[in-house]
Amino acid sequence: MIKVEHVQKNFGKLHALKDVSLTIERGDIVSLIGPSGSGKSTLLRCIHGLETIDKGSIQIDGVEMDPSNTSLYRQQRNRMGFVFQHFNLFPNMTVLENCKLAPIQVLKMSDSDAEKVALEYLEKVGLLDKKNAYPNNLSGGQKQRVAIARALCMNPEVMLFDEPTSALDPEMIKEVLEVMKDLGNQGMTMIVVTHEMGFARKVGTRVVFLDQGEIVEENTSEEFFSNPQSDRAKDFLSKVF
Ligand code: ADP
Ligand code: MG
Repeated sequence: MIKVEHVQKNFGKLHALKDVSLTIERGDIVSLIGPSGSGKSTLLRCIHGLETIDKGSIQIDGVEMDPSNTSLYRQQRNRMGFVFQHFNLFPNMTVLENCKLAPIQVLKMSDSDAEKVALEYLEKVGLLDKKNAYPNNLSGGQKQRVAIARALCMNPEVMLFDEPTSALDPEMIKEVLEVMKDLGNQGMTMIVVTHEMGFARKVGTRVVFLDQGEIVEENTSEEFFSNPQSDRAKDFLSKVF
């Protein structure tokens, strides 16, 4: 579904991604893990087109993402939902308005259709009763569940998560991971930057381990955690467990 080939991304002199290649199949739940600064967010942002790449290519179902082909590029980006560490909800809009905005503006849905879809996904994440609340009156876990519902309202084929639970108090992590687990069980393709090793191991199907802008190791979750191959992965795992 997504093919990343020989991608390089530089920030000035810093080589954030060095020759990264990766294939994501439909139904994969890929955990992107690695030390801070290893390039996880940059890779996710490049896939979503939030950052342009300096070399290489990214293809969606065999079609290259090319920022100069504006309308195709926008369509390709709309096939992906993105969930940020800090939620990025619009504070001046209610939960329901947050969810309806992009379907109406981008997909040109009618107000009533957008509302129907929004209510369906708010129910799915267990927040139907908060539809008229403003984000600032929600807990962190609730905000992140709204952010997930909002992304789902665009009917994405793949969901990208960048440390979705890192900004949450410990007691709220589980409710967000549960929603993500349900999504995975329903067959959603997901790429998840996470430090939640339990989630990566139990829910994830594959692990991609990055260090210093390179993919050092890539394996099934079970193999990666039970039998890491590289010294860098072993070292990382010894620090997080
Ligand atoms: P991770 O998500 O694994 O912690 P990042 O992808 O955020 O790592 O960052 C990889 C490297 O790129 C880091 O050295 C970081 O400081 C640098 N970097 C990321 N974004 C930018 C940016 N917008 N400008 C300059 N440097 C950046
Ligand atoms: Mg990051």
